[in-house]
Amino acid sequence: LKVLEQIQKIDLEVSAIEQEQKEYEERIETITASITGMEEEIEALSSETETLENLRRDVEERIRQSSEKVTRDERRLGEIKTPREMKALNKEINSANKAKKLGEEELERLAARAGELGDRLDQKRTGIEGKNEEVAGLLAEFEQKKASWNQAVAGKLRSRDEIKATIEPGVLRKYELIRSRRGGMAMVPVENETCQGCYIHIPPQVYIQLKKGVDEIITCPHCHRILYVEDQAATEAV
Ligand SMILES: [Zn+2]
Repeated sequence: LKVLEQIQKIDLEVSAIEQEQKEYEERIETITASITGMEEEIEALSSETETLENLRRDVEERIRQSSEKVTRDERRLGEIKTPREMKALNKEINSANKAKKLGEEELERLAARAGELGDRLDQKRTGIEGKNEEVAGLLAEFEQKKASWNQAVAGKLRSRDEIKATIEPGVLRKYELIRSRRGGMAMVPVENETCQGCYIHIPPQVYIQLKKGVDEIITCPHCHRILYVEDQAATEAV
């Protein structure tokens, strides 16, 4: 049983390392996904900015044309002979002035919108820069740790193999079976006559057997994990 405890300790350490590695990979993946999302937003903002810029040029051209028309028409005012012609020309001038004013108002709205877009683009670009740095840092850390993880796992598996050689294959098979069914914890201590795997009280006769230290595998009647009683020596060994 002591040997099995050692094996379980190694197994748990190995899965802790694997878990840590997986968490790193997930964090990197999450940040990479958010970078992709931000890049798409930047692209959408840029294309909207471009559309606005085209609109702005059109509006400016319209303003310029209206302005020219006003100047032209006002020059013609002196050549007018009849009140009727005068009325018609004034009408033209008024409508050109109005078009010019509308264009200028639109230009203001476009400029405000372009300002907003520019601010958001700046924000996104700064954000993406930060994310890129973060991901680069994580990747570097990950690569660095990976080497030591691999080394640690290899070392643990080596000592696991050595220990394994000293156990009966049947016992180990039983351990492996329970381990695969119980999420990695095949052996659990008994405290206050309660299995620490399922927290259900174990029958007194099972507990007595355990206390006696019989050299056979005793499993929990409820969750079927291998039971052991933690004693001073075991605690020190861990
Ligand atoms: Zn149990």
